[in-house]
Amino acid sequence: MNGAFVPARADAVVIGSGGLGAATAFYLARAGLHVALLDKAAVASQSSPRAAGLSGTLRTDDLMTQIAADAVRRIETFEADTGEPLVFHQPGSLKVARREEHAEQLLEEVARGRRLGLDVAMAPLDEAQRLMPFLRTEDVRAVMHMRTDVYLEPRQIPEGYARAAARLGAAVLPYTPVQEIITDGGAVAGVRTSRGVILAGTVVDAAGGWLRQVAALAGAKVGLVPTRHQLMVTVPLPGVRPDQAITRIIDANVYIRPEKGGLMLGGYEPDPVQMDLAGTPADFEIKDLELDLEVLRRLARSVEAQFPVFRDVAVQEHRGGLPTMTADGEHVLGPAPDVPGLWIIGGCCVGGLTTAPALGALLAGWIVNGQASMDLASMAPKRKATTLPERELTECCRLQYAHHYWSPASMPANGAN
Ligand SMILES: Cc1cc2nc3c(=O)[nH]c(=O)nc-3n(C[C@H](O)[C@H](O)[C@H](O)COP(=O)(O)OP(=O)(O)OC[C@H]3O[C@@H](n4cnc5c(N)ncnc54)[C@H](O)[C@@H]3O)c2cc1C
Repeated sequence: MNGAFVPARADAVVIGSGGLGAATAFYLARAGLHVALLDKAAVASQSSPRAAGLSGTLRTDDLMTQIAADAVRRIETFEADTGEPLVFHQPGSLKVARREEHAEQLLEEVARGRRLGLDVAMAPLDEAQRLMPFLRTEDVRAVMHMRTDVYLEPRQIPEGYARAAARLGAAVLPYTPVQEIITDGGAVAGVRTSRGVILAGTVVDAAGGWLRQVAALAGAKVGLVPTRHQLMVTVPLPGVRPDQAITRIIDANVYIRPEKGGLMLGGYEPDPVQMDLAGTPADFEIKDLELDLEVLRRLARSVEAQFPVFRDVAVQEHRGGLPTMTADGEHVLGPAPDVPGLWIIGGCCVGGLTTAPALGALLAGWIVNGQASMDLASMAPKRKATTLPERELTECCRLQYAHHYWSPASMPANGAN
């Protein structure tokens, strides 16, 4: 995908061609806008293609759950909507409680999920083991089964949306870093790139780990923290099948699913690497991020009783990226504070690849119609969680990351809410 020319004008410029930016560009183009989708690197080349590709429909609040459920529906119709391929499996997911308080959390989640019309139930332990045969349930207290969860090939989401947007007339421009957001009387008037100026009254900051730096080009402040997240895939193992259930272990913050004939394991360590990309060279890319397999080995040891299969197993793939954490665990979506014409989509909290289809549609709809189709106040770019002092922001984001599968009630208190 290589944009042939840089247009002098566009209705909307989208900065960043990961899942969130590409989805937004697609829905804007489908609404008839003339869109330019820019990336400083290759299309869809940074955090998005490195994701695990899991949907986790049942979230900590109703709004996020409704958005995640809408995203799964859009994943199911992705090929028809975009004309682009998407390999996805729908084995459902298991959420495993090893502690009493997490067993209670699961009961609450099932009640909330059913209230929202989701196909979710507690699973007897023998049923859980049938759905994921590598799971040992001796020390397990309870398991929840969410039947419609999917996993997919992550790069196909941004690549598919970007190609589909291009077919709808969008200018897709890789290797075109935005160096300046041009304002006129305080409002957005366009962008200056390494390949020239594009005039536009609407600019979307979908720059992933670089979101803060891009917002700052227009004088906007959005507090979130790029946080290293990694996964590994074992060599092929006898007995692994693609239809085995995604499995999450709450207290360990570990997820497992089938991949390439082996098992994928990823997770959320208590002391993640948090980064400020303002301190990295302009040409820094996610491929330059230093990874640490020992973090994953430690996480694997923490679930050894449930997944002894990971003991001493060889690894065929190890990858990682820089999703952005927010201090309250909610995404960031909407108009930027104090800069008319600038829109923000990010704060993915390690869930923005599979929710991109819904989040992109929401933001595009808001831009085109002038109002959001649902109450998105909890995701406002300017809210308590995005305006915390830097040290508090960093610590709250760490807590969110380190307790990824915990309900807000069982998490340590933090100052973001
Ligand atoms: C190991 C791992 C596992 C994950 N698992 C899951 C999962 O199971 N499910 C899930 O939903 N999510 C998962 N995620 C999170 C997911 O990857 C992110 O939520 C998603 O990729 C965010 O997309 P994005 O578009 O914001 O960021 P990116 O994909 O990083 O895209 C941002 C783009 O902006 C561009 N850019 C930055 N600055 C500029 C500039 N000045 N000018 C032009 N372009 C610029 C960058 O080059 C980049 O291409 C995982 C992430 C990792 C790393």
